[in-house]
Amino acid sequence: MSKLPALEPSPTAEDFIDDAAIEATLTRARGADATWVRELIAKALDKQPLAPAETAVLLGCEDKDLQQEMFAAARQLKETVYGNRIVLFAPLYIGNKCVNDCTYCGFRSSNDEAIRRELEQAQIAQQVQALEAKGHKRLIVVFGEHPDYDPHFMADSIRSVYGAGDIRRVNVNAAPLDVAGYKIVKEAKIGTFQIFQETYHHQTYAQVHNPRTRKGDYMWRLDGLSRAFEAGIDDMGIGALFGLYDWKFEVMGLVSHAAYFMKRHGVGPHTISFPRLKPAQGVNFDPKWLVKDEEFLRLVAILRLSVPYTGMICTAREPAHIRDTVLSFGVSQIDAGTNIALGGYAEQGDATVVEQKKLDSAQFALGDTRSLDEMVGKLVDQGYIPSFCTSCYRQGRTGEVFMEYAIPGFIQKLCTPNAITTFQEYLCDHASPAVRVQGEAKIADEVAKIADPGVKKVVQERLHQIRHQGKRDLYL
Ligand code: SAM
Ligand code: SF4
Repeated sequence: MSKLPALEPSPTAEDFIDDAAIEATLTRARGADATWVRELIAKALDKQPLAPAETAVLLGCEDKDLQQEMFAAARQLKETVYGNRIVLFAPLYIGNKCVNDCTYCGFRSSNDEAIRRELEQAQIAQQVQALEAKGHKRLIVVFGEHPDYDPHFMADSIRSVYGAGDIRRVNVNAAPLDVAGYKIVKEAKIGTFQIFQETYHHQTYAQVHNPRTRKGDYMWRLDGLSRAFEAGIDDMGIGALFGLYDWKFEVMGLVSHAAYFMKRHGVGPHTISFPRLKPAQGVNFDPKWLVKDEEFLRLVAILRLSVPYTGMICTAREPAHIRDTVLSFGVSQIDAGTNIALGGYAEQGDATVVEQKKLDSAQFALGDTRSLDEMVGKLVDQGYIPSFCTSCYRQGRTGEVFMEYAIPGFIQKLCTPNAITTFQEYLCDHASPAVRVQGEAKIADEVAKIADPGVKKVVQERLHQIRHQGKRDLYL
């Protein structure tokens, strides 16, 4: 097996996570008085990001009434900044070979049970066509870390996704690259590059990541998205894997990471993910740190309040009832109809049934297995507009420019119309008859609510073009 090339750490890499300082801040902030908590809630409602020390005050508040006030504020903030649209996507696992040995992951190198392989370019096309047939327009491609998955392989895979049909945005979840590697991947026109730090706590990081592996290098990972920025990728997704260490510490890590980006690059992360550990093949967790449902709901609300302009993603790792709940006060993007088995989307998957079962359990178990159509119906039931919009990055609204648009509330003016028209496409091309009826009623309601007559006219014209003239991919 060929080896991964040696690392060349960036001279500008900074360790902005001081474990002792975070622990001390969390301790000091415990049980702050109600006036202070309410002042911070008001600051968040004014759409000002909270400093990590302020987030600590919200994390340290155990008063149930004040917690309810945080949920209500998070709901209101989300409605103001994001409106009622929910962006939908699907993950596409490209390859599960991995040189790392993360103790929590079914793809870890010491797991001899996992069947290792990657999709060939033709198989990628097959998967994409199956996903498109369901109505997906936005994918995130996922890779293990392996010499076979170098930046050229990643870029070729992304091109195969775009080339297979009508996928309009491809995001990436992969191990950090060097600047030259990111440039190669960027050339393939990616949306967000997502890297989860897993745990921000240094000692825990060292316990769960073998120090002799590439992933064992905490700083290489922490600096990973800054190198991406240096390479011209200004659309970055951060995340922590909740359940490895204290959830409050990880929230502080995420908020510190967002603040660091703002300071160093002038933009915040585009998205934050907060997956909870799921059972995986041969994996035993320390139950001490597993995050309970009520804690999970709190962390979502506190993140929403702390980073008002960052999209929040909750994947199908979570069960349906939790996903349905967090949509109302934090989450703006979800996957649906998810299958994390390699080759799992094609109607006649290219793995045998036995292999599929093994692969299914290979990384982790899914909590929400609803199909895209079921999810769309459920979102409409709950008052949301399911959105398949991919406009921002295609219109150049990323990075700093995205922040400029987001801050004055442009998202509602641009995103709601784009959500409505992409939802209309879904209804015309993919929805079941029941969801189509439900969805058309929702679109009529949403169009009626558009206050700006100019925007309303454009949306009405576009809906007509989609329904009656077969036009597609119209966006503002
Ligand atoms: N190999 C790349 C890396 O580690 O960055 C990306 C792919 S990895 C499959 C994507 C993410 O899955 C990881 O960053 C980790 O947070 C998450 N993950 C791994 N094992 C998990 C588990 N048992 N439960 C939930 N999420 C898990
Ligand atoms: Fe490999 Fe990523 Fe799984 Fe770690 S989390 S074993 S790096 S695929």
